[in-house]
Amino acid sequence: MTKRFIAGAVCPRCGEMDRLVSFQENGKTVRECVACGFTEALVANVSPDELKTRVNQFEEPTEQEEVSVVKLLDPQDLSKK
Ligand SMILES: [Zn+2]
Repeated sequence: MTKRFIAGAVCPRCGEMDRLVSFQENGKTVRECVACGFTEALVANVSPDELKTRVNQFEEPTEQEEVSVVKLLDPQDLSKK
């Protein structure tokens, strides 16, 4: 079991900074203050609220001008000899 100091963390009980260690215990993250013995178990609740809203999905009517290329063949030009 590895205990790691939480940099910049302040103990909610004694108010000491950099006295809190964090370690895993039974799948939970436990914070413990080495100064006053305060312990706090953080239940791993991995469910970030990611709202899957598709805002960018509105149908935009694409008006495409129908460009019809008509090849005009001169029939006389074909019949010329
Ligand atoms: Zn403390």
